[in-house]
Amino acid sequence: MKIPIINSKRQYETIAKEAEKAVLEVMRSGSYILGNNNKEFENEICKYLNVKHAVTLNSGTDALHLALRALDIGEGDEVISTAFTFVATSESIGIVGAKPVFVDIDPDTFNIDASKIEAAITPKTKAIIPVHLYGQPCDMDVIIDIAKRHNLYVIEDACQAIGAEYKGKKVGTIGDIGCFSFYPTKNLGTMGDGGLLTTNSQYIKDRVIALRNHGGAIRYHHDEIGVNSRLDEIQAAILRVKLPYIDKWNKLRREHAAYYNELFSKCDLIQTPKELDSTYCVYHQYTVKVPNRDKVHQMLADKGIGAMIYYPIPLHLQKVHAKYNFKEGMLPNTEKDTKLVLSLPMFAEITKEEQEEVAKTLIEIVEKTAAAAAV
Ligand SMILES: *Cc1c(COP(=O)(O)O)cnc(C)c1O
Repeated sequence: MKIPIINSKRQYETIAKEAEKAVLEVMRSGSYILGNNNKEFENEICKYLNVKHAVTLNSGTDALHLALRALDIGEGDEVISTAFTFVATSESIGIVGAKPVFVDIDPDTFNIDASKIEAAITPKTKAIIPVHLYGQPCDMDVIIDIAKRHNLYVIEDACQAIGAEYKGKKVGTIGDIGCFSFYPTKNLGTMGDGGLLTTNSQYIKDRVIALRNHGGAIRYHHDEIGVNSRLDEIQAAILRVKLPYIDKWNKLRREHAAYYNELFSKCDLIQTPKELDSTYCVYHQYTVKVPNRDKVHQMLADKGIGAMIYYPIPLHLQKVHAKYNFKEGMLPNTEKDTKLVLSLPMFAEITKEEQEEVAKTLIEIVEKTAAAAAV
């Protein structure tokens, strides 16, 4: 049985009629960029997230770097974040000319270890970017408390965590700014690129609305260097079709995660994901830790199971940040877990039968490779 890590076509089939109608309407309308669908989607997602303002953008990466721009963070500033994330998080810090300062992760959650943030703060620190990795919320109370005491902004990278909650609040609405991605494989994915920035601040909203459209709120009046980061109407229309299903899809992901946990409970070699108290995790990824990970990964692939490694190289050791001369050994938990993590097939439409096949195959392979390594 071939089981991919995500099956976008299976989800498409469940909304095909609605999505095709919505796209056809856009094509016939003659309005293709920042039109009514964008406006309505911004309203609808504000309601869903319970936040005052939402600005649609071209990607999650743009949401992150325009968040920094809107807060006037740039050259000479430092931004604290995690090295255990997709490159877009630290790339956005580099785009505005600021320096990323990486703090190690909590190996239980893979998220930034909030207890280690304070030691990384310097007079140049301007913001913290916690990443709700794999759909698991960061410990936001601790992070907000540190930010308040040191006068720092908090920009949540919620690109993998739409619908996740921390103490009853949706992530992306707890800090000063929330950043979301609608890349097709995200929990709420469109059929191209898309992103969103959320905030309760009218000032930040106005800045970002200007920045996304060449740095001016009024057409052909340009106050600062902006970008073109508009979301097209076709993507906004598809997102409007999908948004009403997000809670159902996230709930299914949680049920699948619980079922994987149960299936793996009989194998001590496989470490299943833990959840922080008072959080609602949305399992963008279901990520386990296994010994002999690279071998296991290859053997799973040989059996047609599409597991993935998110992410094989931590960001402090990536060439893109070479100028900072970050050293191996600097983030021990991050470096250790980079070598152990394996994300398994996870999507709302996966069947129990497929999960059982994934679990049976993984357990067999992990036990076999562990026995071989022991001799
Ligand atoms: C996907 C992702 C991004 C970037 O989003 P894009 O829409 O692909 O630009 C940023 N951060 C994290 C954690 C992501 O998973």
